[in-house]
Amino acid sequence: MHIVRSLFIISCTLLIGCASTPKKAVEAAPVAAFDADSAYAFVAGQVAYGPRVPGTDAHQQCLLYIGSTLERLGAEVQIQTGEMIRYDGQMQHVANICAHLPADSAYADRPAILLTAHYDSRPWADQEEDYTQRTIPIPGANDGASGVGVLMEVARQWQNQPEHKRPIDIVLFDCEDMGTPAFYTGKQREHTWCLGAQLWAQTYNHAFPNQAAGKKAKYEYGILLDMVGDPNAMFPREYYSMQYAGKYVDKIWRTAEKLGFAHRFVNTRTYPITDDHYYVNAIAHIPCVDLIHYMPGSETGFAWWWHTQKDDMSNVNPNTLREVGMIVMTLINE
Ligand SMILES: [Zn+2]
Repeated sequence: MHIVRSLFIISCTLLIGCASTPKKAVEAAPVAAFDADSAYAFVAGQVAYGPRVPGTDAHQQCLLYIGSTLERLGAEVQIQTGEMIRYDGQMQHVANICAHLPADSAYADRPAILLTAHYDSRPWADQEEDYTQRTIPIPGANDGASGVGVLMEVARQWQNQPEHKRPIDIVLFDCEDMGTPAFYTGKQREHTWCLGAQLWAQTYNHAFPNQAAGKKAKYEYGILLDMVGDPNAMFPREYYSMQYAGKYVDKIWRTAEKLGFAHRFVNTRTYPITDDHYYVNAIAHIPCVDLIHYMPGSETGFAWWWHTQKDDMSNVNPNTLREVGMIVMTLINE
């Protein structure tokens, strides 16, 4: 993902002074089960393949690992494939992992919740200080694997629940992180990030042909998890999420507060961040919220390890995974 800084100029009045929301009474939320160690193991399981760069064996092996695990946990899994134009004008093969967790028959007509993350890792550590490292792929422990690991554990917990009160789709996007490398000197193109999400958003009604659209909205809303494992992760309210899905940002942040995670789910805002949720909102018109670790004081806006070799398991903490996972579990049980 990357930050759209130029938009700040035209929208700074919107960003300043709107950080506070009215205080509401905090009620206790029902406690949902989520096993942080299991989520951590799902993150480590992906990272163990090495960087999941599209087109490599590690990427293909990891796709099979995620897909077969979700299938074993009771999901109906389909791989959505297609070709997209990448930053250098070449065609890029894309494979999104689409997993459907059906509701019990009494609830089958309810609109689904869409849970998303990206499973590819960036082919270039182009934020490395040492320029000799910049063409090496990143481990992608936080940037990619953390969100996928949380959602794999959500699927495992879902399987153990006595009731399934709404359908859940877990869509794990490919080629999120193939956006134009910082060192690229060729012709600059737009929309080079989030290729899998763009493909999915353009075609999502066909991803599950047995549920083709036509009647009512298939999804109530979506949540994107991106870089959700840092021990000190902070989740401010992301700009596009507020613009397209403000009602659901409020709902998620209220849930975080009830669960006691308000220290992490803060009420400040970020710059607009071009991440998978942008295309889900703008193309598919599904309100979708990005939960993304954002550091307003840092040079890039992201953590110090972002798009470097240091995005490894030493910067993934089970407790952060647990807080994010508890929020998702609470929301899907509502
Ligand atoms: Zn990234």
